[in-house]
Amino acid sequence: MSSNLTTYHFPTKIRFGAGARHELSDTLRALGIQRPLIVTDQDIAQLSWFTQIEESLLSFGAGTFSSVRGNPVVSQVSAGLAAYPAHDADGIVAVGGGAPMDVAKAIALMAHHPGHLFDYEDGASTRPIDRPIPPIIAIPTTAGTGSEVGRSAVISDDETHAKKIVFDPQLLPKVVLADPELLLGLPAKITAATGMDALTHLIEAFLAKGENPLCDGIALEGLYLVSQHLKDSVLFAQKLATGESVDPAAHLQARAGMLNASMMGAIAFQKGLGVTHSCAHALSTLCDTHHGLANGVMLPAAMRFNLDAAPEKFLRMARVVNPAANSGEALIDWIVALSQAIGMPASLQTLGVSNDRVDQLVDIAIADACHPFNPKPVTAADFHAIYQDALAA
Ligand SMILES: [Zn+2]
Repeated sequence: MSSNLTTYHFPTKIRFGAGARHELSDTLRALGIQRPLIVTDQDIAQLSWFTQIEESLLSFGAGTFSSVRGNPVVSQVSAGLAAYPAHDADGIVAVGGGAPMDVAKAIALMAHHPGHLFDYEDGASTRPIDRPIPPIIAIPTTAGTGSEVGRSAVISDDETHAKKIVFDPQLLPKVVLADPELLLGLPAKITAATGMDALTHLIEAFLAKGENPLCDGIALEGLYLVSQHLKDSVLFAQKLATGESVDPAAHLQARAGMLNASMMGAIAFQKGLGVTHSCAHALSTLCDTHHGLANGVMLPAAMRFNLDAAPEKFLRMARVVNPAANSGEALIDWIVALSQAIGMPASLQTLGVSNDRVDQLVDIAIADACHPFNPKPVTAADFHAIYQDALAA
């Protein structure tokens, strides 16, 4: 393959809008799935709309696997994998945020492949992915990872917390039913943390090395949507939690904006991510920090590090969030102000991470696969400086 050619991939069919979830039965029929396994997490399994989805699939003989909780780990995949043949399933419906989505993809991969999940680790596989992977339908319930439009799953080792990626084009859901009504009950903290993950995807994708104007355009519009809708989404969630009334139409519009922004982030980052994600992955591995929270806390320090590598791109992003901006620094100021407004911890210290963890964090971050796409190279000393900056911010 010629190295001066670029690949653009936008293949997912997405049905977007309030009530999209009601098309699940028709979607299953269209894909020829007769006995789906629904994969979700413990909390979602308790919600009334989820029960309604289960009831709507009674004629399909569907089964539910709902033991996903916290960061996705191998033992959850194994448990789901046992449920798949037990239900004689022929497809998967993934309902949830990044964790159930990734567990669902890993179950799909392993449904017809032998051995251990990590035998198929992207870039370090010891076995080929050469058998069919059952079709996946994705119903996202958070606006953050955008895993519903991605071809990979990130699963951690139960003991070491080390994250491994499995990747295959067949892991891309065949259809996404993106229904912003399912986000209306998300608590403020999850809304904020997942929203910061989406924001980090959009910014890092735009800055990532390589030519991909389609992704760049998507990243900039996604950034605009975050600037319009993240703060409102969090404020609406806070109001609902304290019993205040909110305008349902405005709330739905904010959630829809973020649901689009989240998918746009994940589509855009086929270009690559960067140093923020490498820092965040290390925090999740070492301190079990929520992925979006880790990105949100690291983003300002990481962008202060990156600013001189791409001043023009920073200025373009700054003008998306503030048309009057006349320097790239305005983007970083905006990120800091947004973080504060939505209640993100101001520093690593606030998160409970202390200085004596930095050496270990740097060791993990430098081995991460994201920072090679950063607009400038990152050394161990650079990672040190970025973590120090984020500790005291
Ligand atoms: Zn992320």
